[in-house]
Amino acid sequence: RQPIIAIDGPAGAGKSTVARQVAAKLGLLYLDSGAMYRALTWLVLQLGISFEDQCAIAELASQSEFQLVPEVDPESPQRVWINDQEVTQAIRSIEVTSQVSAIAAQPAVRKALVQKQQIFGQKGGLVAEGRDIGTQVFPDADLKIFLTASVQERARRRQQDFEEQGQPHISLAQLEQDIAERDRKDSTRKIAPLQKAIDAIEVQTDGKDVAEVTAEIINYYHQ
Ligand code: C5P
Repeated sequence: RQPIIAIDGPAGAGKSTVARQVAAKLGLLYLDSGAMYRALTWLVLQLGISFEDQCAIAELASQSEFQLVPEVDPESPQRVWINDQEVTQAIRSIEVTSQVSAIAAQPAVRKALVQKQQIFGQKGGLVAEGRDIGTQVFPDADLKIFLTASVQERARRRQQDFEEQGQPHISLAQLEQDIAERDRKDSTRKIAPLQKAIDAIEVQTDGKDVAEVTAEIINYYHQ
């Protein structure tokens, strides 16, 4: 079997950037599971389906086709499509970001998306990133990393991302509050709460740059 590396952790710990780099360096595919939950949330909002209508959302989750296409440059985020609509930018909006936890908490949604992620894993070696990769999606992963950073550090990074994307300025205090709130929702929900797998290695990223963290993970992989 081809190697699978699971990278989990809270919002803003730097999972996406690091996972992309690790994948590029090891010649593995990269799977951003959060992008799938975001794309589905975008579609639910777009279609005006009520969040209460779990049946309709479950149906949409299992019937939709998700495409995650990496850019040639490993620094660039992948492009994301749902049912032939490109949503690369749209899924990063504040609206989607604030609603995604509610969609990701629906059991049938998780069942459908986890299954699609596992199918993706059959295509070849993979670096998969999310909240439940090491616990639910690929419990037999060759390496499990739990990436963390303080709320302050994560807020600072998010602000920097927004600036680079030319998005409107949001205060650090607001970002810290949003991140703490999303942590709370993601770790207290009944289904698949954010949890460190018992066999995961915790990597604290405060004050470390992407190259350092990437090297640390690749080091663990070779051990
Ligand atoms: O990683 P990202 O911030 O893009 O994830 C967006 C949201 O999707 C998370 O806040 C979480 O609610 C949900 N998610 C999840 N399980 C995953 C990945 C993301 O529940 N494996």
